Amino acid sequence: MDELTLLADADARGLRYLEGNATRRVFPSDEAIAALDALDERLPAHGLPAEQTLELLDRIGSPATTASNGPRYFGFVIGAALPAAAAVERLMLAWDQCASTFDNSPVSATVERVAGRWVLDALDLPRESAVGFGTSATACTLGALASARRALLARQGWDFDRQGLIGAPEIKVVVSELVHITVKKALRILGFGLDRIVYAPVDAQGRVDPARLPLLDERTILCLQAGEVNTGAFDPFAQIIPRARQAGAWVHVDGAFGLWARASSLVALTAGIEEADSWTTDAHKWLNTPYDCAMVICRNAQALAEAMNSDAAYMSASADAQKNLTLEFSRRARGIPVWAALRTLGRAGVAELVERHHACAQWIGRALARLGFEVLNPVVLNQVLFRCATDEQTLALRGAVQASGETWFGGTTWQGRPALRISVSSWRTQVEDVQALVQLLARLRETKEEG
Ligand SMILES: *Cc1c(COP(=O)(O)O)cnc(C)c1O
Repeated sequence: MDELTLLADADARGLRYLEGNATRRVFPSDEAIAALDALDERLPAHGLPAEQTLELLDRIGSPATTASNGPRYFGFVIGAALPAAAAVERLMLAWDQCASTFDNSPVSATVERVAGRWVLDALDLPRESAVGFGTSATACTLGALASARRALLARQGWDFDRQGLIGAPEIKVVVSELVHITVKKALRILGFGLDRIVYAPVDAQGRVDPARLPLLDERTILCLQAGEVNTGAFDPFAQIIPRARQAGAWVHVDGAFGLWARASSLVALTAGIEEADSWTTDAHKWLNTPYDCAMVICRNAQALAEAMNSDAAYMSASADAQKNLTLEFSRRARGIPVWAALRTLGRAGVAELVERHHACAQWIGRALARLGFEVLNPVVLNQVLFRCATDEQTLALRGAVQASGETWFGGTTWQGRPALRISVSSWRTQVEDVQALVQLLARLRETKEEG
């Protein structure tokens, strides 16, 4: 099969998959999962035909997907892929650009520069900030925290790049008690040491309590969050960040999904967030781009560009080249799907997406409370945290939901007991999908209780 026929076949299979979205099981059947054994082949000594490889992946793989690109998936604050973002990714595959510098790809550097400006506009963050498009909030947080430490040490007269950490003044890290695990991962990789981290106590909704904020100074990195993964709660930035700044600390905000509230009528949740030093947010969650797409935003553009610099004799570039703002050197132009998403949604479309999901989540919260479930959070964003009367019922309901194939959402532990977590974050999700979700939960609970 020639290249063009093969790619057309891949596109046709992709389109058939999308057409099946309405009826596909949201979590694959046991049979589909068992059939994955067919992929457990030995590495072939000689290459096999590409069309057969594609056919195998589609035949065995497609039925074993989780339908996260459909309307009835409510897991992990991740959404479906917007058509515009998915479409430009297809074109980008044909381009196969290495989007490290302008010299390597003029179009990528240009579009990503525009995308960075639009992200700052949409999120109303300081326009002088640098925006790096990385693989994930995890990787972007790593870049932000590395920049933070390097900048704080420079203020102490310490040259981190040359002298490293041994003998350096100690940089203290203060994080929320409910900090996301990936922020801890970034800190751990950077050598901060989990036992040395200071945890800021939180209130009943998981917000850092300003009254119990640990001491901050000019050698402190403070990590706050916009959108706690269980409750969707926001730390009280306006009460905390001015104090941190006064102390000379660096404030980083993990806003993997919650930062997008700022692009909507829910902006008040983020009041004061613009005074931070750096922010992380995902595009592959609430902005609904395909995966491997996130942003690090750093008010002091130079601090990020210096920490992430990878100029070499054979490839040096401007401070705003993406290879100098992210962990990657050879990279895909992740900013292009962000540009496409923002260009096709516009300010109004982003706001509508966030506000619709908020309204849907509120509706789910009220409906579940009426049905007698214990709703554990005021639904401030797109997250509904709830449980049944007993832990056994909560766990059984979770199993029944997954087995039903009609929807999918995850479990968690909240204040020491199992709970269930519904996230409304897919552009495909409409009112009828959340109504069907609530009806399903009512039905499953009845059959459990009768049985
Ligand atoms: C998902 C998430 C992350 C990690 O994002 P990745 O893009 O998956 O690395 C960090 N913080 C919060 C609050 C999240 O929800």
